[in-house]
Amino acid sequence: MAQIYHDDDADLGVLEDQTVALVGYGNQGRSQALNLRDSGVNVIVGNIRDQAAQRAKEDGFSVASIAEACEQADVVMMLIPDEIMPETFKSHVAPSLAPGNLVVFASGYNIAFNLITPPSHVDVALVAPRMIGIGVRETFVAGNGFPSFVGVHHDATGNARARMLAIAKGIGSTRAGCIDMSMHDEASLDLFTEQAFGPAFGRVLMTAIELLIEAGYPPEAVLLELYLSGEFAYSFDKMREVGMMKQMDFHSRTSQYGTVTRGARFMALGEPIKEKMSEVLEEIRSGSFADEWSNQQPTATALFDQIRKFRDNMPIAKWDETARTAFKIGDAA
Ligand code: NDP
Repeated sequence: MAQIYHDDDADLGVLEDQTVALVGYGNQGRSQALNLRDSGVNVIVGNIRDQAAQRAKEDGFSVASIAEACEQADVVMMLIPDEIMPETFKSHVAPSLAPGNLVVFASGYNIAFNLITPPSHVDVALVAPRMIGIGVRETFVAGNGFPSFVGVHHDATGNARARMLAIAKGIGSTRAGCIDMSMHDEASLDLFTEQAFGPAFGRVLMTAIELLIEAGYPPEAVLLELYLSGEFAYSFDKMREVGMMKQMDFHSRTSQYGTVTRGARFMALGEPIKEKMSEVLEEIRSGSFADEWSNQQPTATALFDQIRKFRDNMPIAKWDETARTAFKIGDAA
């Protein structure tokens, strides 16, 4: 059984008299800063001076340059995009760190794949929310919190775990539960979901869409049936609430009979999917994906322009837009 921490395992008192600097005031930065402040933690924001800094000021935070904020801080939370983090860390954060500081990462990626190596005189920990930025704030305000992956990567002071858990409590995560994990495992699970589970699931969905449209069903009806109505997402939510198998009770007997009898025909697909997923997992774990992505950085903008063009020209983009407009769904409402 993995180690899971809740509110009772964490003491916010260890952050008393400490200053927490949030480097970055974007999706995670803003929500975590507001939650920590509401939990009574002394927070400052470090940001390059522009709109994000302006927003932090409007929210009532003291804002400084990244280097200045880190100099004033006992705890530094790295909440800027992962791909620009190594350079920012090297130039603006590392030189400002004092012995005994704690550096917290919201993703294990840069540490796991050796793109950032913090000095040995600081504590290093992971507090990685399993929640998008806006949800970090909304679930905190609603009183439920959200789960996170947490872990001590380096304990220079002997106090790293207590401070890590206090941060997790301050942002509202120990309310839901935090599971202990290494940076490498957190990053690998995250990348696996993005690179194997997501695409495999997407392929199954696209195959069903293509087959039904080729069979003559109107694209609007096919998309509505498969995902636009929200029925499928609702079932996913029920899976979360009552369990993957038990949610079947909410479906008709015809549905359950068909699912079980016809479902067996797809069992054989598991092995080839597992084989592809294993390949992807191996590339992630060995660091070869991280190396490849680092090498792509100089041309990443052009690459994303191409990906966007390709994506927007796929037939599904048009079907999707037509159907969402017809049913007034989402941003077409
Ligand atoms: P954002 O893209 O929202 O970060 C925006 C912030 O980064 C802004 O303050 C921005 O400042 C700053 N920033 C952008 N470019 C630079 C730069 N070149 N130099 C310095 N600062 C810069 O990041 P997220 O909140 O999405 O992600 C932060 C961390 O949280 C990452 O490690 C991510 O993996 C992790 N995470 C994110 C989740 C999510 O749902 N988004 C979920 C769980 C973890 P400015 O406006 O001044 O450029």
